[in-house]
Amino acid sequence: MSCGEHQQITLENSVNGKLPTGCHIQAFADDVLLIAHAHDKNELEVITNQALSEIVQWGDKVKLSFSPEKTQAIAFTPKAKPTWGIQPENISIIYHQVIEPIITYAAGVWGHAAKKKSCKRLLEKTQRLFALKAIRGFRTVSTNAALALSQFMPLDLKVTEINQIENTRSSGITQYLPDDITLEKPTPIQNLLHPALRVKIVPDSLQTSEEDPNNFTQPINIYTDGNSMSSIQSICNRSNTHPIVANIHKNIKKIREDGTVDITWVKGHAGSAGNEAADAAAKSAANLKKNFDYTKFPISFVKAKIKKDNLYKWQNRYHSAPQGKHTKELLPDLFSIKRLWQTTKIDFKLTQILTGHGFHREYLYRFKISNTDTCPCNNHSVQNIDHLLKSCPRFGAQRMEHELHCQMLKVSPYNIQELVTKEGAIISFVKYASYIIDKLKSFNSI
Ligand SMILES: [Zn+2]
Repeated sequence: MSCGEHQQITLENSVNGKLPTGCHIQAFADDVLLIAHAHDKNELEVITNQALSEIVQWGDKVKLSFSPEKTQAIAFTPKAKPTWGIQPENISIIYHQVIEPIITYAAGVWGHAAKKKSCKRLLEKTQRLFALKAIRGFRTVSTNAALALSQFMPLDLKVTEINQIENTRSSGITQYLPDDITLEKPTPIQNLLHPALRVKIVPDSLQTSEEDPNNFTQPINIYTDGNSMSSIQSICNRSNTHPIVANIHKNIKKIREDGTVDITWVKGHAGSAGNEAADAAAKSAANLKKNFDYTKFPISFVKAKIKKDNLYKWQNRYHSAPQGKHTKELLPDLFSIKRLWQTTKIDFKLTQILTGHGFHREYLYRFKISNTDTCPCNNHSVQNIDHLLKSCPRFGAQRMEHELHCQMLKVSPYNIQELVTKEGAIISFVKYASYIIDKLKSFNSI
């Protein structure tokens, strides 16, 4: 759940005492974590609903709403315990929603220190544990591979990212733009029209309007087309503090004292007279070569730029690090990993294939668990992932099935970047890989 940062302490103090037994809330920055514990599903539902209603009532009192789209529920059950407890996707949610925000808190102030080796190491150590849990990887998997596979951006980069964004916010300038283009800031309250005087703008019909735009019956009708739906919504939101929106409100107020304006969205280039005239006027204005009227940049612009740069840095780091060689051969870039998780779920068996850290003999021998690295199929081939996937006769039947499937779908059977392009192919690969890992312990007589 998300709420205002300064409300967190008040929320904890006022609500915790009123919650049903088994419930506790913890607020951090603008996130709220509600923990509910019960003996069975029904009881859990009842107490969680009671707790949520307390929180919402508190929110109503302080005029604060919680956003359902940003609210996520995770269930922990005793049944899940024997198999690593929390599901890996839940580890990811907890990491992104709770752990990362706590670690990066106030990075605007201390973030520059993340470049120091000692700080970087400490961040990496903390993050590594979560990444390994999230991918269900062996403890020997390198941090480079674990972070890439879990899609957890290295914390020092994340901290630097937040630090850069906060610096832009406070200095008002960015390295991405000339210094005379400054940060767009919300209009200060004293410069906004008094709420009672703010113009009421009625979006006539925000849906596609087919009505005749040539019929000007209202005092002021504004017809607009194209991608301006979000602009209309911003204008219609009377509490919007964007400088352009505030200016529009002032201008409309000037020209119409009773302040009712209708805005209708119309289909562009549909031949309506007003729309064509507006297009022509816009084109001729574009040819005037006059200076820009508005030279401010929104913080979202800088955020997107910094995020892109950091992703590039991470990609370089992933690529150039000596660790994670096996993973990189299968998944050479972060984008291909992202694609993979869009098509299939992370899992203990697939992770063994992707990291090369698992129950196969090459690994067991390397870590002195087995006294040989050869495969029982012929006692001379090294039993590595490549051998198991591509040539070990023990899995010949399943391999043939997978290869035929891929042949039919016209994708190469062991190229993950290609496999993810066809849903059936990646499913077949995961099934085949899981079969191998399932049988491996008994095959190796462990
Ligand atoms: Zn073999």
